[in-house]
Amino acid sequence: MSTFDWESIVPATPLDQIPGDIQRLRKGFRSGKTLDLNYRLDQIRNLHYVLRDNVEAIKDAVYKDLGRPKHETDLCEVGFLWGEFNNVVANLKKWAADEDVKTNLQYSISSPKIRKRPLGNVLIISPWNYPFMLTVSPLIGALAAGNTVAVKFSEMAPHTSKIVGDLCTKALDPDVFQAIQGGVPVVTKTLEQKFDKIMYTGNHTVGKIIATAANKYLTPVILELGGKSPVFVTKNCKNIKLAAKRALWGKVVNAGQTCVAPDYVIVEPEVEQEFIDACKYWINEFYSGKIDQYNPDFAKIATPNHWNRLTSMLSKSKGEIITGGNTDEKTRFIAPTVVAKVPDNDSLMEDEIFGPLLPILTARSVEEGIKYVHENHDTPLAMYVFTDKASEGDYIQSQINSGGLIFNDTLIHVGCVQAPFGGVGMSGYGAYHGEDSFLAFTHRQTYLNQPKLLEPLQDVRYAPYTKTKRSM
Ligand code: NAD
Repeated sequence: MSTFDWESIVPATPLDQIPGDIQRLRKGFRSGKTLDLNYRLDQIRNLHYVLRDNVEAIKDAVYKDLGRPKHETDLCEVGFLWGEFNNVVANLKKWAADEDVKTNLQYSISSPKIRKRPLGNVLIISPWNYPFMLTVSPLIGALAAGNTVAVKFSEMAPHTSKIVGDLCTKALDPDVFQAIQGGVPVVTKTLEQKFDKIMYTGNHTVGKIIATAANKYLTPVILELGGKSPVFVTKNCKNIKLAAKRALWGKVVNAGQTCVAPDYVIVEPEVEQEFIDACKYWINEFYSGKIDQYNPDFAKIATPNHWNRLTSMLSKSKGEIITGGNTDEKTRFIAPTVVAKVPDNDSLMEDEIFGPLLPILTARSVEEGIKYVHENHDTPLAMYVFTDKASEGDYIQSQINSGGLIFNDTLIHVGCVQAPFGGVGMSGYGAYHGEDSFLAFTHRQTYLNQPKLLEPLQDVRYAPYTKTKRSM
């Protein structure tokens, strides 16, 4: 696992093939076939059946890419996706129906409505960390809305990108779907083509490159980015042991390579030691007292570059390692590592960690913690608040804006297919999941039909603008 030769697993799409592939999708869209809701539902059902029939092979591929326990893939990717499929099949006709507009008397005569129109041909650029769910979930939304779709799979999860790309190609009409495989040159070539919407999931730096390229055609963009998602543990949290268990769970799943993973903990001094002791206790419990590269219940780091970044960040930290710290380069293993007494300007506090390292910062009060977030890592993708005092929870919520928020747990909001998921500010813009995915790839077109009979009432708008008309 120490070398990273993705191209021998999933060959890149030839660059000169990309413009023709995108043209074919545009033609597919213009054919009008995606306007038919039954056609869309057939495509979505086909996709669901083909993926479901091959789910064990997909989980094997994720394991090859990330060393992730299959149980975690079931919990964090497969279950959610099947929920997305069921939700869209049950509700698409309702979501796609024209909406009546409630209006005043003047407009009611022309019966304004909103038509949900597909945007056209869209591009989805997906990441490697949940390479099945974060690819197929937006794809379902884009197909449900009646678009043709090109998906650029992640080269960093080559086994999963290969199998999921091949299965999507098998399941879907070639007029409406195209898999694109490869790295930066392929993304760059693809972005030269015109799309009607682009969705990118990944880091800020690439997010800006995507938005800049999209601007050439004024193409709207959804950016699902990351950030440093804080966890507050206040002195009003009555069950510190449970808080530590749930915060750690959010950090160890997929070895912390989760966009909404708790990035760091802000704890009040009154409960700091109890929280630290509980972290040691739970890591011991989760991994039966022995966490090393052979443990089957803990994922590996995706690539050598990501492993180097994380181990370098850890080696520079001035904090106190209270559990973990052991690593293995050959297998890209980094133990879940909790670091206490971390200074504000520590190496672990510069950028999003995106790995199994959990720094704990002590704040003398909730206000001091809020000030720290504002001054350093505003508008995170998620925030987690462990408190049993509702007014304190409300206060923290009112002070810090975040993509999503959970009181007394971590991560689980992502699985709620009926609620929007997305960032705010630096954690991205646009939201998806369930009906929000449908809307993210839909144009809401207002239309109305003006009756001719009441034309005399319209006279006021035509010149000449007489005194009588002006006084009306
Ligand atoms: P990454 O570098 O793998 O980038 C993802 C995609 O961008 C890949 O398809 C890659 O080919 C492409 N890419 C990379 N460099 C490029 C360039 N110079 N020009 C054009 N395209 C390029 O992503 P990463 O940084 O390893 O992913 C981790 C980040 O993604 C974290 O910040 C995480 O929080 C975020 N993330 C967010 C979500 C979400 O839903 N909000 C989900 C997963 C990951």
